[in-house]
Amino acid sequence: MTSFQPGETLSVKCKNSIFSMRNGYCTFVPEFETFTGAYMTSPGWQKIQAINLATGDAFFPMRALAMTDVVEIRRGSEIVPVPLPMASDHSVKTWTISGSKNQVYTITEENGRRTCTCLGFNFRRACKHIDARPIQ
Ligand SMILES: [Zn+2]
Repeated sequence: MTSFQPGETLSVKCKNSIFSMRNGYCTFVPEFETFTGAYMTSPGWQKIQAINLATGDAFFPMRALAMTDVVEIRRGSEIVPVPLPMASDHSVKTWTISGSKNQVYTITEENGRRTCTCLGFNFRRACKHIDARPIQ
Protein backbone atom coordinates (compact mmCIF):
# COMPACT_ATOMS: atom_id res chain seq x y z
CA MET A 1 0.00 0.00 0.00
CA THR A 2 1.22 3.43 -0.90
CA SER A 3 1.83 5.58 2.13
CA PHE A 4 1.67 9.34 2.19
CA GLN A 5 3.47 11.79 4.42
CA PRO A 6 1.28 14.06 6.56
CA GLY A 7 1.37 17.54 5.08
CA GLU A 8 2.41 16.59 1.55
CA THR A 9 0.21 18.03 -1.16
CA LEU A 10 -1.92 15.57 -3.10
CA SER A 11 -4.44 16.00 -5.88
CA VAL A 12 -7.14 13.38 -5.61
CA LYS A 13 -9.60 12.68 -8.41
CA CYS A 14 -12.90 11.23 -7.21
CA LYS A 15 -16.11 9.99 -8.67
CA ASN A 16 -18.76 12.65 -8.11
CA SER A 17 -21.45 11.06 -5.94
CA ILE A 18 -24.21 13.21 -7.47
CA PHE A 19 -23.22 12.41 -11.07
CA SER A 20 -25.61 9.45 -11.20
CA MET A 21 -28.45 11.70 -9.97
CA ARG A 22 -28.17 14.23 -12.80
CA ASN A 23 -31.25 14.81 -14.93
CA GLY A 24 -32.47 16.89 -17.86
CA TYR A 25 -32.48 20.07 -15.80
CA CYS A 26 -29.04 19.59 -14.40
CA THR A 27 -26.79 18.24 -17.13
CA PHE A 28 -23.61 20.07 -16.16
CA VAL A 29 -22.71 17.80 -13.24
CA PRO A 30 -19.12 16.65 -13.78
CA GLU A 31 -18.47 12.93 -13.51
CA PHE A 32 -15.26 13.50 -11.58
CA GLU A 33 -14.03 16.12 -9.13
CA THR A 34 -10.42 16.77 -8.19
CA PHE A 35 -9.46 18.03 -4.73
CA THR A 36 -6.01 19.31 -3.82
CA GLY A 37 -4.72 19.73 -0.29
CA ALA A 38 -2.26 18.63 2.37
CA TYR A 39 -2.57 14.97 3.30
CA MET A 40 -3.82 14.28 6.84
CA THR A 41 -3.59 10.95 8.64
CA SER A 42 -6.84 9.20 9.50
CA PRO A 43 -8.32 10.21 12.87
CA GLY A 44 -9.12 7.28 15.18
CA TRP A 45 -12.86 7.84 14.90
CA GLN A 46 -12.85 7.51 11.14
CA LYS A 47 -14.58 4.26 10.19
CA ILE A 48 -14.20 4.44 6.43
CA GLN A 49 -11.00 4.07 4.44
CA ALA A 50 -10.38 7.53 3.08
CA ILE A 51 -7.78 9.95 1.84
CA ASN A 52 -8.03 13.01 4.08
CA LEU A 53 -7.00 16.41 2.79
CA ALA A 54 -6.67 19.62 4.78
CA THR A 55 -8.82 22.34 3.26
CA GLY A 56 -7.35 25.37 5.02
CA ASP A 57 -10.90 26.31 6.11
CA ALA A 58 -11.25 26.75 9.89
CA PHE A 59 -14.88 25.64 9.84
CA PHE A 60 -14.35 22.66 7.54
CA PRO A 61 -10.71 21.72 8.14
CA MET A 62 -10.70 18.20 6.71
CA ARG A 63 -12.17 16.68 3.58
CA ALA A 64 -12.46 12.89 3.70
CA LEU A 65 -12.44 11.28 0.28
CA ALA A 66 -13.72 7.70 0.52
CA MET A 67 -11.28 5.25 -1.04
CA THR A 68 -14.20 3.68 -2.89
CA ASP A 69 -14.63 6.95 -4.85
CA VAL A 70 -10.96 7.64 -5.53
CA VAL A 71 -9.87 7.00 -9.12
CA GLU A 72 -6.52 8.79 -9.30
CA ILE A 73 -3.99 10.34 -6.93
CA ARG A 74 -1.30 12.77 -8.04
CA ARG A 75 1.72 13.97 -6.11
CA GLY A 76 2.77 17.00 -8.11
CA SER A 77 2.83 15.76 -11.71
CA GLU A 78 3.45 12.15 -10.65
CA ILE A 79 0.52 9.71 -10.63
CA VAL A 80 0.80 7.46 -7.60
CA PRO A 81 -0.86 4.04 -7.31
CA VAL A 82 -4.25 4.21 -5.61
CA PRO A 83 -4.16 2.12 -2.43
CA LEU A 84 -6.71 -0.69 -2.28
CA PRO A 85 -9.64 -0.80 -2.26
CA MET A 86 -9.87 1.00 -5.57
CA ALA A 87 -13.03 2.46 -7.03
CA SER A 88 -13.32 -0.54 -9.32
CA ASP A 89 -13.06 -3.08 -6.48
CA HIS A 90 -16.51 -4.37 -5.66
CA SER A 91 -15.42 -7.60 -4.03
CA VAL A 92 -17.45 -8.89 -1.12
CA LYS A 93 -16.01 -11.27 1.46
CA THR A 94 -17.79 -12.86 4.40
CA TRP A 95 -16.56 -14.99 7.29
CA THR A 96 -17.78 -16.03 10.71
CA ILE A 97 -16.53 -15.23 14.20
CA SER A 98 -17.41 -17.04 17.42
CA GLY A 99 -18.44 -14.57 20.10
CA SER A 100 -19.11 -15.04 23.79
CA LYS A 101 -21.95 -17.41 24.83
CA ASN A 102 -21.23 -19.57 21.76
CA GLN A 103 -22.81 -17.00 19.48
CA VAL A 104 -21.60 -16.98 15.88
CA TYR A 105 -21.49 -13.70 13.99
CA THR A 106 -20.97 -13.05 10.32
CA ILE A 107 -18.52 -10.38 9.20
CA THR A 108 -19.02 -8.92 5.73
CA GLU A 109 -16.31 -6.91 4.02
CA GLU A 110 -17.42 -4.89 1.03
CA ASN A 111 -15.13 -2.37 -0.63
CA GLY A 112 -12.91 -2.47 2.44
CA ARG A 113 -15.75 -1.70 4.84
CA ARG A 114 -16.64 -4.35 7.39
CA THR A 115 -19.97 -4.95 9.06
CA CYS A 116 -20.93 -7.45 11.76
CA THR A 117 -24.26 -9.10 12.53
CA CYS A 118 -23.92 -8.63 16.32
CA LEU A 119 -26.12 -6.29 18.36
CA GLY A 120 -23.19 -4.09 19.39
CA PHE A 121 -22.33 -3.32 15.79
CA ASN A 122 -25.95 -2.55 15.06
CA PHE A 123 -26.00 0.09 17.80
CA ARG A 124 -22.48 1.50 17.69
CA ARG A 125 -21.33 0.66 14.13
CA ALA A 126 -18.28 -0.85 15.85
CA CYS A 127 -17.49 -4.07 17.73
CA LYS A 128 -14.60 -6.34 18.70
CA HIS A 129 -15.52 -9.03 16.15
CA ILE A 130 -14.62 -6.87 13.16
CA ASP A 131 -10.88 -7.31 13.65
CA ALA A 132 -10.96 -10.77 15.25
CA ARG A 133 -9.50 -13.80 13.51
CA PRO A 134 -11.86 -15.88 11.40
CA ILE A 135 -12.82 -19.38 12.65
CA GLN A 136 -10.39 -21.80 11.03
ZN1 LIG B 1 -19.69 -7.81 16.21
